[in-house]
Amino acid sequence: MIARIFLAIVLCLVPRALAASGPEPLRLDGGWRWAPGDSPARAAPGHPDAGWAVVQVPGEWELHAPGYDGHAWYRRSVELPAELADGPVGVQLGSVGDAFELFWNGVRVGGSGRFPPHFVEGVTPILLLVPDSALARRAGGRHVVAIRVYNGYAYGGLMGGVRVGRYDVLAQRRSPRDVVIGGLVSFFLAIGIYHLAFFFRRRSARENLYFALLCGAVSVYGATFSISVQELLVPWANSYRVGIWAMTAAIPAFVALVHRLFDLRLHRRDVLLTTAATAACALIASLPLAALAAYGPWVDLVLMAGLVIVVARAWRAGPRGRPHGSVLGIGTGTFAAAVMYDLLSEHVSWLPVARILPGVPSLFWIGFLVFVVCVGIATAGKWATTEATARVDPLTELARRHVLDEALRRECDRLGRTGGSLALVMLDLDHFKQVNDRHGHGVGDLVLARVGRLLRSCARNIDTPARFGGEEFAVLLCDTGLDGAQAFAARFRRHLAELRVPVPGGATIGVTASAGIAVGSEIATPEALLEAADRALYRAKLDGRDRAVGVRLEPVAL
Ligand code: GH3
Ligand code: MG
Ligand code: MG
Repeated sequence: MIARIFLAIVLCLVPRALAASGPEPLRLDGGWRWAPGDSPARAAPGHPDAGWAVVQVPGEWELHAPGYDGHAWYRRSVELPAELADGPVGVQLGSVGDAFELFWNGVRVGGSGRFPPHFVEGVTPILLLVPDSALARRAGGRHVVAIRVYNGYAYGGLMGGVRVGRYDVLAQRRSPRDVVIGGLVSFFLAIGIYHLAFFFRRRSARENLYFALLCGAVSVYGATFSISVQELLVPWANSYRVGIWAMTAAIPAFVALVHRLFDLRLHRRDVLLTTAATAACALIASLPLAALAAYGPWVDLVLMAGLVIVVARAWRAGPRGRPHGSVLGIGTGTFAAAVMYDLLSEHVSWLPVARILPGVPSLFWIGFLVFVVCVGIATAGKWATTEATARVDPLTELARRHVLDEALRRECDRLGRTGGSLALVMLDLDHFKQVNDRHGHGVGDLVLARVGRLLRSCARNIDTPARFGGEEFAVLLCDTGLDGAQAFAARFRRHLAELRVPVPGGATIGVTASAGIAVGSEIATPEALLEAADRALYRAKLDGRDRAVGVRLEPVAL
């Protein structure tokens, strides 16, 4: 259902977003007049700027000059093509470091961030509508664009490109990126909601709750890459910072999830380490943006290392060979490799990804998607295992007692309608306590596992072989009379006599079993069959063990 709604939204949005039509926007890249310092007079179209320096946009300035207070102005003139005259005009700015105000022919059009003394860090790509009053004030057919910028530290400016075009075309052009991000975010959200709903139906499935929290954090993180969300966040917080906060919140959910997936207990030390790591990340995420940008790659590296360490430690401590463990390992490995490649290509001039995969700026998102999908598969795999072990005993791989009870009730009901006969064989290993006492519980467990496998191979697929408890087994044989059940018990005991289990020191041991068989017809009840088989087993033990005793349930006279 959720998948269908999601598909419908994507199908509605993608064609609309891609169908941008109208005049091509102008790129205002290249040389702009630039001067440090600040004055409101610089917004005026006629302000003398001939003596100003010429800088390239997109680009950034780095200035440590005395008296420099973080302010600078950019100016240039623009000739608008005729086809732009009849539509609303928009200006789109890429990344700007940090706060800015844009003036069109001296009229303030808009901006982002706030100037000192209440400076708000971080300004994101933004689209502004140029009011008609500003357009009308052009001098000599040319428009003058002036941008006042303030950045909180030495490194800033118009770091992204500036475009002018018809407002609706610019709005549509930037939608595809947001649609892709929106699609991914909805995908993660839908998975998260599904797992949350699953958890509310089955409170024992806590791994689903942790995975839902992880999906929530990933959705918030992904959403911070959308321009619309970035614009929405501007008055309150920097989107880069919000993304790191979301990932910080994901740390405890991920640690708890991994421990659940590997059936490990969270020790005090693990809780302390996780709390410390989460607190450290929260602290780093709250640093001034300059420091955060400088240490960003290191934060990524440390988070990545933490992720690998958590999975590797759980893998070493947990039971091996779990399929969902391998899936989690693959996902983590892929993600770590993708992040490592990105960091290397960025800082050590490794071969950039874009040259291998044209149009792909970094491997991060591909690795991340693989990782989240693998975590989801592992969580689902864990549930499937839990579901299976609820019905099957993991040591012997035989049905559990309640499954036998269900089958017994069902077969007795069927017998009441259709007639025929049904046999229940109870088996108890002889002197099994001695096996444990002499060779240890490990050998005892191995014997039980081998006996389980033997019992499964002796039974037909319509029968129900089960572990009744401890070293006692029961087999429900459908459409079987006393002779058939005795033949089954004899066959099983013959194979059991051949079974040899290795013990430490190189020797092997064998075990014998006693069997109690009860055969019932249409009047049989589960309780009566169980009691009769138990009594027959008791008789077999009393008579000297390693034998089978059978009884037929007689109709009770009313
Ligand atoms: P008897 O011939 O009278 O049946 O003797 P016994 O020693 O088999 O009988 P008893 O029922 O007194 O002991 C059963 C033993 O089975 C006791 C317990 O240590 C062992 N046992 C039960 N479950 C397990 C298990 O899962 N693993 C191992 N290794 N031993 C088990
Ligand atoms: Mg016993
Ligand atoms: Mg026994």
